[in-house]
Amino acid sequence: MISISEEGYYGRFGGAFIPEMLHPNVEEIRKTYVEMIKDEAFQKQFRQLLRDYVGRPTPLFLAERLSEKYETNIYLKREDLCHTGAHKVNNTIGQILLAQRLGKKRIIAETGAGQHGVATATVCALMGLPCVVYMGAVDIERQQPNVSRMKMLGAEVRPATSGSQTLKDATNEAIRDWINNPEDTHYIIGSVVGPHPYPDMVARFQSVISEEIKWQLEAATGKSNPDLIIACVGGGSNAAGAFYHYLNEDNVRLIAVEASGLGVDSGESAATSVLGTEGIIHGSRTLLMQTPDGQIIEPYSISAGLDYPGIGPMHAHLIQSGRAEAVHITDREALAAAYDLSKREGIIPALETAHAFAALEKIAYQKSDVIVINLSGRGDKDLDTYIKHFEEFNE
Ligand SMILES: *Cc1c(COP(=O)(O)O)cnc(C)c1O
Repeated sequence: MISISEEGYYGRFGGAFIPEMLHPNVEEIRKTYVEMIKDEAFQKQFRQLLRDYVGRPTPLFLAERLSEKYETNIYLKREDLCHTGAHKVNNTIGQILLAQRLGKKRIIAETGAGQHGVATATVCALMGLPCVVYMGAVDIERQQPNVSRMKMLGAEVRPATSGSQTLKDATNEAIRDWINNPEDTHYIIGSVVGPHPYPDMVARFQSVISEEIKWQLEAATGKSNPDLIIACVGGGSNAAGAFYHYLNEDNVRLIAVEASGLGVDSGESAATSVLGTEGIIHGSRTLLMQTPDGQIIEPYSISAGLDYPGIGPMHAHLIQSGRAEAVHITDREALAAAYDLSKREGIIPALETAHAFAALEKIAYQKSDVIVINLSGRGDKDLDTYIKHFEEFNE
């Protein structure tokens, strides 16, 4: 049975390891979020925004040409059709409503590739709240289009200039800001990571994905359970949402796809579930890539959204307990899958999402199986990368 304990543990992973100064904030969120999720007024507002603003339910699409290629039955859950182009907005909508309920007047967030920053800036504009997004200075250079989108949406993007000037440094800056402004500020974390209750809260907001898959699959096939669900894992929020209502349905195989960059053993990878060891990152105990003396090892993937040194505690537990199967996909395998999906189904996936499609080459399944792939986002943001490698893969 997969469940979370009162203290926020999935098996050995999770918990809340935070500076004393932030205890009141995390405690206030913990006291409020479960009550809020059960509250009818919240549900009404959340559902209405998901429908009218985000565009839910997103379709479940039978990909016939892809199914033909792999000689099985493949359905795509179209999170790429969400407003802003990915699943991340499901969470930021939930958290902005939480911030309002807590009476917070200011929002902060951290972002790596900029996707979570955009999803946060979007809901802040929607609700008229000021928004500060911390982003590594190196990432600001690499991800200009998303920096521009955040500016258009009225957010202030603050560069993190310490360390490697990437996501973990942006996270440190965001936590420092929160410690300095605990009264009026809510920190919107973008994946199923961070101190309890964030991983559980974000999973619940994203669980709308598997809630919809259940009734959509029932309507399409007469059965609400697929045989396999495949999702890519950075921190793990789209996978958590796609797995959520199937966690305790043991006949549904859960496939968690991590980025192995240039190869698991190349030293340039983000394959946390095999390379990671137990430690504490961003306030929770989980698997992370670190040196024997506890220094975080910079991860690498061609996809900025999977390039995270840790993995959400739920996924650490799912993989270690054997409930989920971990698959590792290199940059090249992901690129090949992206070109194939684009031509075969007319859908250009995000680079993150392309890793999930490449897993079809790596797993065993039956002809009669029903496979759902969570199509977490669209590929507009990755066109430069796709075009750069185009000739190599398309002669
Ligand atoms: C951010 C992102 C991911 C990775 O984040 P998770 O929390 O693991 O879902 C995956 N796909 C897309 C399209 C993203 O933008």
